Amino acid sequence: MWLAELRFRLLSDTSYSLAEQHIRQYLEALIFQGQLIGREFPTYFADDHFCSRIILPAEDALKPQHHSLRGQQALAALPEAGLSYPKLQLLGQDLMSSHTDPCPSATGYLLFTNFAEQVSPLRCCEHFAPVPLYRLGAGSTTDYEDFIRWQLQYQALDEIQMQQQRVLPKSAENALQQLHSKLNQQGRQLARRVEKFSGKTCYYYLYSGSSPDCSLEASKACPGCGLTWQLSDSWHGLFQFRCDHCRLVSNIAWDCQ
Ligand SMILES: [Zn+2]
Ligand SMILES: [Zn+2]
Repeated sequence: MWLAELRFRLLSDTSYSLAEQHIRQYLEALIFQGQLIGREFPTYFADDHFCSRIILPAEDALKPQHHSLRGQQALAALPEAGLSYPKLQLLGQDLMSSHTDPCPSATGYLLFTNFAEQVSPLRCCEHFAPVPLYRLGAGSTTDYEDFIRWQLQYQALDEIQMQQQRVLPKSAENALQQLHSKLNQQGRQLARRVEKFSGKTCYYYLYSGSSPDCSLEASKACPGCGLTWQLSDSWHGLFQFRCDHCRLVSNIAWDCQ
């Protein structure tokens, strides 16, 4: 990930609120295309420009060819608010976040997220490294807003169920852990969409936090098809279960490890 600044120079008279609204629309379009990571973008005004501090998944993430239609429109609308097209300045590599997938085109994918990491929910099967969503190049007029909105809800529930004094005892965990919860239904549909866009396999990670009986945990069956899915060696050091038929991966329940 790269820390960077986007500078929007003032071209003509404008108001703070109009400029802010246009900058926000542009940044939001970049988020929903997977071109920016995170949700908070401190923006200040100095001399003759606005400046937003951003995190990019890759050095070339803001190249025009990666923009969605919404992004192109938001970019084209900046002069209406008296702003120039933004100038990018890379500040350096973010030392606190994971490295983006090195594959120019991954051989397969995994949809995986958690509360702790602010990265793309799409991972490369080979490196388990985050893949910026725009790299899927869906070739349509829609962006990846559904993926980002699913990830936000997933992370919120994961954050809740990590707390000692949970305000939603069990219900947050059930949403993460049960195959047919609304959250996991949405997630699996997104994984199928990745397969449609890319023509490659996309696994879905099914969270497993607790188990009614830890002694049976290793022999549990795939919740999708009921078949054996235990791996002889754990995959990426995290997943002890994988079903190639249902394209699901999971782990020995955290409480049983
Ligand atoms: Zn890779
Ligand atoms: Zn299965």
